[in-house]
Amino acid sequence: MDHFQYRQGRLCAEDVDLEDIADSVGTPAYVYSTATLERHYRVLSEALAPVAPTICFAIKANPNLAVIATLARLGAGADVVSGGELATALAAGVPAGRIVFSGVGKSADEMRAALAAGVLQINVESEPELELLDRVAREMGLRAPTALRVNPDVDAHTHDKISTGRCEDKFGIEWTAAHRIYARATSLPGLDLAGVAVHIGSQLTDVGPFREAFRRLRDLVFMLRADGLVIRTLDLGGGLGVPYGNEDDGVPTPADYAAAVADTVGDLGCRILFEPGRMLVGNAGVLLTRVVRIKEGSTRTFVIVDAGMNDLLRPALYDAWHNIVPAREPESSAEWSDVDVVGPICETSDTFASQRRMPPLAEGDLLAIRTAGAYGRAMGSAYNVRSLTPEIMVAGSRFALVHERVSVDDMLARQHLPPWLVSRPSALTGSTIVPAAGKARSG
Ligand SMILES: *Cc1c(COP(=O)(O)O)cnc(C)c1O
Repeated sequence: MDHFQYRQGRLCAEDVDLEDIADSVGTPAYVYSTATLERHYRVLSEALAPVAPTICFAIKANPNLAVIATLARLGAGADVVSGGELATALAAGVPAGRIVFSGVGKSADEMRAALAAGVLQINVESEPELELLDRVAREMGLRAPTALRVNPDVDAHTHDKISTGRCEDKFGIEWTAAHRIYARATSLPGLDLAGVAVHIGSQLTDVGPFREAFRRLRDLVFMLRADGLVIRTLDLGGGLGVPYGNEDDGVPTPADYAAAVADTVGDLGCRILFEPGRMLVGNAGVLLTRVVRIKEGSTRTFVIVDAGMNDLLRPALYDAWHNIVPAREPESSAEWSDVDVVGPICETSDTFASQRRMPPLAEGDLLAIRTAGAYGRAMGSAYNVRSLTPEIMVAGSRFALVHERVSVDDMLARQHLPPWLVSRPSALTGSTIVPAAGKARSG
């Protein structure tokens, strides 16, 4: 359930007409719904209530400050994977004591920043990383709250590029080495070893792989405890899929997921952490875009829109399917036809939908690309020198521009010609750079 619905023939985000947002901010633009974020957080936390969850929003799915702050007010912590995400979570008001630092390539500087902030836990993914964290923590006179991310060697049956829990994936400590490395880590004086973590992939549409991974984790906990090692926390990662609208049998509900957790690791007496990303924000966002032009080919009709793969990369990167709907509800008598909805970028992969059944569309029509709240703006780029997409937050009948468009002028202002290419006062920076002696000005 989300709060993007037609009212009197117009698509609204909660009580706001999306045309009004497009008119005031321009397109393309991301729009998020507060009520949807709140609903998803509540549904998940209520389903998991029997295991008293610590829910840390994986902010790589959507690092917008307003999104994070909305979830933080409900009690969410954050899962971060870089120093930049750590700074963002703190700026959004997430208490450091609810931040988990994950990621396969943390630098010493990032470790120092996390320890100085006083994060809840740092999930370590290799032996060399353990040694570095131990050294950094001792230099700071601290003990680092640490968990070991293990790779349970389970196939999540999701897209290849978002599968992380197989032994050939780069993530986590190999299953077979987990026992030895956990024991070793316990002996390092700079570490306060709290437990183990898993994260097997993203957009899982079947609860089976979760059950398998959690059962393996359970076995590991018993093995470690049998050797007298202490396990206080389990971090079960994220990965719960959301419906994009083209799944054959839907996705597991939070209740299905919670049952898998309770059945497998609910009785271990551990504090249980979760790192949901997509599940909280996916359906809470749409990407608004306008039709620039209709191009009739000999075999296909192309609907060219003003959003491109730089604004929303998922279709190009993962062959992802997104529902695309017009902001004005189609008449019931409208004749639908198959079209390709494409962006303006000079890449064939800049295609949002291929041979998609759509109602009649004309230049200037506003469209919403749905379920764009996760891994949308977060993966945006300026490819083709396009501005970075603005973001708008809606709450009831109010809306606010919460992330301004980063314009081409903003980006040009950060570029500088080297002195040897400057032969006249720079038009780029406005500053006067004296040309090298003896060189004649051209023109
Ligand atoms: C990406 C990621 C998540 C979130 O995954 P979702 O599929 O968005 O829920 C959680 N934990 C880690 C370590 C991740 O890398």
